[in-house]
Amino acid sequence: MRRLPIYLVLDVSESMAGDPLAELGHTMESIVDSLRQDPHALESVHLSVIAFAGKAQLIVPMVELMTFYPPRLPLGGGTALGAALDELMTRIEVDVKKTTADQRGDWEPIVYLLTDGRPTDNTDHAIARWQRHFASRAHLIAVTLGPAADLALLKRLTDDVVAMESASAEALGRFAKWVTASVAAQSQAIDIAEGTSSRLSIAKAEEAGINLIKQSDVSSWAPMDERVAVFTGRCHRTSRPYLLKYASVAVPGTFSTGDWDHFYGLEGCYPLEESYFEWSSIVPLHAALSTSQIEGVPPCPHCGARTTLAKCSCGKLMCCNGPGVQQCPWCDQSVEFVAESHGAGFDMTRGLG
Ligand SMILES: [Zn+2]
Ligand SMILES: [Zn+2]
Repeated sequence: MRRLPIYLVLDVSESMAGDPLAELGHTMESIVDSLRQDPHALESVHLSVIAFAGKAQLIVPMVELMTFYPPRLPLGGGTALGAALDELMTRIEVDVKKTTADQRGDWEPIVYLLTDGRPTDNTDHAIARWQRHFASRAHLIAVTLGPAADLALLKRLTDDVVAMESASAEALGRFAKWVTASVAAQSQAIDIAEGTSSRLSIAKAEEAGINLIKQSDVSSWAPMDERVAVFTGRCHRTSRPYLLKYASVAVPGTFSTGDWDHFYGLEGCYPLEESYFEWSSIVPLHAALSTSQIEGVPPCPHCGARTTLAKCSCGKLMCCNGPGVQQCPWCDQSVEFVAESHGAGFDMTRGLG
C-alpha cells in the first residue's frame, strides 16, 4: 500500500495563546475524525505533526490515520519558521519512501503550514533549500491566520498560500472542512489512477470560504504593526508561570497631527506549562512596553492575587495581592511592594510573539 503522507506544521508562538491554540487542537481532531469516515483516506493517509515557536520539534511521528491521536500542543515564545522548515525537510527525507527500481514509493507528501506571524529566525537558507530539493517532490500549502502573517515571505516559499482572517472557531472550522474534502479527494484520485497522481488542487478553496493569495495581493500588502504584546510572570505563591496577552488597539490621536495612537488592551491571562521556556528562543528581547500603554491588569490565574504586573528589581514579573514583602519566584530575593503610585509607569520586557 502506498501511503499519502500529510504533515501539519503548526505555529505555537505565544500570540496563539488562549482560544487560538485550543481551536487549533480542535481543528486537528475534526480533520482526523472526518477523514476516518472516508475509506480511501483511511487506507492511504498518514499524518505527522511538527510544532514551532522559538524552536521547532516533531511532536507526532508519521502514523497511520487510524492510530493518530491529536497531541497536546505546546506554547513558546518566538516564530522559528526557518527551523520548522529544516525539521520538515529532515522528516520528509526520513519518512517518505522514494520510488526505486524495486519498490513503489509513497505518494507526494502534502504539507499544511499554519502561521499567524512573522518569523523571528533567518529563513533564507531554509527557503532556498526547500526550493532546490523539496518543492518538486512535496506540495506545501501555507495557511495564514490573521493579518500579521508575512505573505511576501510565504509566497517565496510556495505558490499556494491561503489566508484565514483569524484563528477563530468559525474560520478554522471552514479550514478543517476544506482540508478534509481536498485530502479525501486526493486519496480517491490516487485510488482510481493507481500509478499516476496529479497535485492536490487548491482552486476550490474560495468556494469553501478561504482566500487564495495571488502575487498581486502581496505587492499591495502592507505588513501590519505588532498586533499582540505578551509578557510572562510567575505566581509568588506557587512559582508557576503565566502569560499575559494584550492586543493592539488603534485610537485616533490628537486632531492636530492626525496620527493614530496605539494602546494594548488585555486579551487574557493564561497559566503556562514549564515547557513554555523550552519552546522559547533565548535571543535577547529588545522591545519594551510601558505600563502606561497597556489597559487592564488581570488577577493571578494560579492564586487569584489582585495583580499579575508586580515587578522585581531583577526585571521579572510576579503576582501580588497588595502592599508588603514577598519573595520573587524568579530570583528569590525579597521585594517590598508599596501602595501603587499612579502615573509612574514601569517598563516590562516584551516577548517575541
Ligand atoms: Zn499567584
Ligand atoms: Zn526577582
